[in-house]
Amino acid sequence: RLEIRNIQRSFGGRAVVDDVSLTVQPGQVTCLLGPSGCGKSTTLRIIAGIEKQDAGSIWADGQMICDGTSRVPPEGRGIGLMFQDFALFPHLSVAGNVAYGLTGSARKNRARVAELLDRVGMSAHIDRYPHELSGGEQQRVALARALAPRPRIMLMDEPFSGLDDRLRDDIRDETLDVLKAEGTAVLLVTHEPGEAMRMADEIALMRDGKIVQKGAPYNIYNTPVDKEAAAFFSDIN
Ligand code: ATP
Ligand code: MG
Repeated sequence: RLEIRNIQRSFGGRAVVDDVSLTVQPGQVTCLLGPSGCGKSTTLRIIAGIEKQDAGSIWADGQMICDGTSRVPPEGRGIGLMFQDFALFPHLSVAGNVAYGLTGSARKNRARVAELLDRVGMSAHIDRYPHELSGGEQQRVALARALAPRPRIMLMDEPFSGLDDRLRDDIRDETLDVLKAEGTAVLLVTHEPGEAMRMADEIALMRDGKIVQKGAPYNIYNTPVDKEAAAFFSDIN
């Protein structure tokens, strides 16, 4: 369970993240949805610990991971990341990539790698190298790699961009299946209302650094908070 309370961040006197509060439950996907430049990626970077907030606090499974005075470093947060530039390590095989962040015994790691590659449908490619895989296959391996250390929380920033429509639909569905099976709390950033409608248990609509509306996808779609929100959802694809 991820809890973000009153996060604030300004650049050059402009509030880019303005009093953002969010909760993400285990096994659920919350979509942070909004137009380009509204502050989505900055919010995610703050949660990941690679950007500092000016104010506010973040809690992971009841443990405070940062507030005004103390900060848990990114690697200590138990948070998995899957960002747009999800590049695999080119010199490692599929198995090597997925095992990369694992610290257990070799036997346990092999079992975990096999389990995840099975989940994402990549078992047959376990000994291949990234350049021998299609973009969609690489993305599946990247998902397995992000999930391998069993993060309780996963942050995803536009992870499905750069794929053709058909493949994107497949990978979205597979990703949801895997994340639900693992019980991960997911915060997914997207600027596409269609993607949020498809993936989210809850949508947080963001504009100019603020969350302007929160709710179940169809509630937001059917009762947008204002004309701008309605217009944003009208060009759904
Ligand atoms: P997109 O959908 O295009 O990825 P976004 O919602 O992820 O947009 P952010 O990357 O969070 O947007 O950026 C929000 C705003 O903050 C933008 O106007 C951006 O130019 C600005 N910004 C982000 N990082 C910095 C920085 N380090 N210094 C100054 N301005 C920044
Ligand atoms: Mg962004």
